[in-house]
Amino acid sequence: GPVEGTASVPQPLKVQDIRHTKIFINNEWHTSSTGRTFPTFNPATGVKLCDVEEGDKVRQTGLFMTLSAKAAQQRGSAWRRMDASSRGRLLHRLADLMERDRLLLAVDPGLREPFLQSFYVDLDGSIKTLRYYAGWSDKVHGKSLPIDESFMCLTKHEPVGVCGAIIPWNFPLLMFSWKIGPALSCGNTVVVKPAEETPLTALHMGSLIAEAGFPPGVVNIIPGFGPTAGAAIANHMDIDKVTFTGSTQVGQLIKEAAAKSNLKRVTLELGGKNPCIVFSDCDLQLAVEETHKGAFYNQGQCCTAASRVFVEESIYEEFVLRSVERAKKVVIGDPLDPLTSHGPQISRRQFLKIMDLIDSGKEEGARLEYGGVAVGGAESLFIQPTIFSNLRDHMRIAKEEIFGPVQCIFSFKSQQEVVERANRSPFGLVSAVFTGSVDRALSMSAALDTGTVWVNCYNALHAQTPFGGFKMSGHGRELGEYALAEYSEVKAVTIKLRETL
Ligand code: NAD
Repeated sequence: GPVEGTASVPQPLKVQDIRHTKIFINNEWHTSSTGRTFPTFNPATGVKLCDVEEGDKVRQTGLFMTLSAKAAQQRGSAWRRMDASSRGRLLHRLADLMERDRLLLAVDPGLREPFLQSFYVDLDGSIKTLRYYAGWSDKVHGKSLPIDESFMCLTKHEPVGVCGAIIPWNFPLLMFSWKIGPALSCGNTVVVKPAEETPLTALHMGSLIAEAGFPPGVVNIIPGFGPTAGAAIANHMDIDKVTFTGSTQVGQLIKEAAAKSNLKRVTLELGGKNPCIVFSDCDLQLAVEETHKGAFYNQGQCCTAASRVFVEESIYEEFVLRSVERAKKVVIGDPLDPLTSHGPQISRRQFLKIMDLIDSGKEEGARLEYGGVAVGGAESLFIQPTIFSNLRDHMRIAKEEIFGPVQCIFSFKSQQEVVERANRSPFGLVSAVFTGSVDRALSMSAALDTGTVWVNCYNALHAQTPFGGFKMSGHGRELGEYALAEYSEVKAVTIKLRETL
């Protein structure tokens, strides 16, 4: 059985019993209707962990599963009749169970992310998100409006209905929580398709959802692949909304499928090529540390990755030097070792894509300051933290999302120039500004075309703060009060008054 950590530093469970590998529908576990399964691997070792039942297009995803989510959503169902405050209590109970299972849950993403990172960041962020939306459950309400003539109008915020959630592999637990939190708070039902690379955490959450006492069909989890199970959600006539996090390319397919099927509502959280702007009046050590974490957190596999760092000319050399010194301190190793700060990339496909982009940087004449190589043998998916300097804006690594541990450091001369270069991207997810001047921070935050601007910090994500992109980084907002609007329909009830007094 599992060996629990005892010391003050949490220790990962040494033995992981994988208990849930099936399709979760109606609070029950189902096998695939086609009999197909797919393997899931530990990317640090290449060892297969187990086989998971594959949700196929026709039966599980297409029909059965949405019927249960639809039934749970019908007027008169236990879920629809439940007091709003009781929905909040269920979300709190789910958060309690996640706290109980914290070590266990940290192990599944921990196979991809360094253990302490998932233990502290993912688990904390997920639990706080559910508690935040638990609090909103009985505070989602409309208004009474002053309108012309002898009418009165009430607005009601109703659930959208059945929400499909298609999530990526880089933060399997956090993305699950960001989607179900606001969806359930507003009274929707959910069909989640986890990424094919990381199905296990979501299935563990399925068992906790049943244990917490959510009525059957409120949350359904369909492990499977994008073009089958994922596309079935995007195309489905009985799914009222789809929320997606992943690549811009797939985001476009989803919006197209939504448009061509039933015009389901769409929320997209896609890629980024995020500019960080470091002015010479900043706290240099803070800027080096934050941009380092921004670039290399989770091996660079973040939509928020700090992938374009623009540094004012006068401190450029010093900044590059210090960034290289910082990167040398990264501890590459087994993600389950609490001392490790840098694990493997998720898959061979991602590894090859990143190595190709690193090669393009070398060929196009950027200066390789550090790293640029794989470590640990032919089969390994580990890449050394890599730093390029002396970049030009037209280079591939300056434009394309790398989704790997690569920091690109550019130099700039003037504020006007850097704003223009920072905004010259089809993406607009996040940006950051490092400066000692409040005035400059405010004028920069007004000028940058991104959904988030961080000032003297990076990756500062909180349940209370809306998150989402401008331009091709997506649309709609997750987290905060703003996310509630993505999961509710507004109904205007207009009443003609016979007499006015
Ligand atoms: P992806 O967009 O292909 O996969 C994300 C999710 O979408 C998965 O659950 C996948 O099964 C599903 N999906 C794939 N094709 C689909 C389709 N046709 N219809 C419906 N669902 C579909 O991302 P990926 O291939 O895992 O990674 C490729 C690139 O995407 C990365 O290099 C990175 O640039 C980007 N990415 C971004 C994020 C993010 O947080 N924004 C996360 C993961 C990947």
